[in-house]
Amino acid sequence: MRGLQHLHPEARERAEELQLLCKKNNLPILITETLRTTAEQNELYAKGRTTPGKIVTHAKGDTYQSAHQWGVAFDFCKNIKGQEYSDTAFFKAIGALGKAIGLFWGGDFKSFVDLPHFELPKYLPNNSTSQLKNKYGTPSKFIAEWTLAQPALYPISQANLAAMSALGIMTSVDYWRGVNVQYLDELLTKACSKCDRSVSNDIIGVDHALEVLVRGGVISSPDYWRRVLNDVKYLDVLLVGIARRVVVR
Ligand SMILES: [Zn+2]
Repeated sequence: MRGLQHLHPEARERAEELQLLCKKNNLPILITETLRTTAEQNELYAKGRTTPGKIVTHAKGDTYQSAHQWGVAFDFCKNIKGQEYSDTAFFKAIGALGKAIGLFWGGDFKSFVDLPHFELPKYLPNNSTSQLKNKYGTPSKFIAEWTLAQPALYPISQANLAAMSALGIMTSVDYWRGVNVQYLDELLTKACSKCDRSVSNDIIGVDHALEVLVRGGVISSPDYWRRVLNDVKYLDVLLVGIARRVVVR
């Protein structure tokens, strides 16, 4: 996932601060990854070992060894096509900026230099997730602690949750109560007024769904939703579910 909203609040704050500093210094940074699931980390770990490619990490997913699984690390690259990872000076310059605001930079790892990586040292003594593992056991407990403590920036109204659940579009209301997506509540309000109980459209894929949602007057900026899709699990399923029931006149 690449959205900053998936990070621990302190890590998110630093990442935002870093983005501002980069802007001031004309360094075109792109944050490429924030939180990783265990499955995603296992997949990365397999790379160069049991699947093709170069080894990219020494952290196993199953044992929660990656700081990314705990939401306290993020990766970045140069936001210029074709030059994403080729400019070492760029990474060094950003590494210095990040260190100045209290981040640990992956370029300083002793055993496995990782130029596009930052992490929050506060929770990772000796760059290890052991302390978090001892205290919380699994990332989900740690993540729950800070997500529940923060009010959602973009909460979904109870009425919309209930309506979507009644239509069979949202199967896990608890999951959707926890997501934080700008304009999603507005989208659902529109969807409620334009959705039929019966499935009326055959939708082939999420692009088709977005097209139907535009035609049905549920959304007006498909590009915005296309971007958000990368960050929010099951949003594709939700949008397809809505699109199938939208009455297009
Ligand atoms: Zn990383």
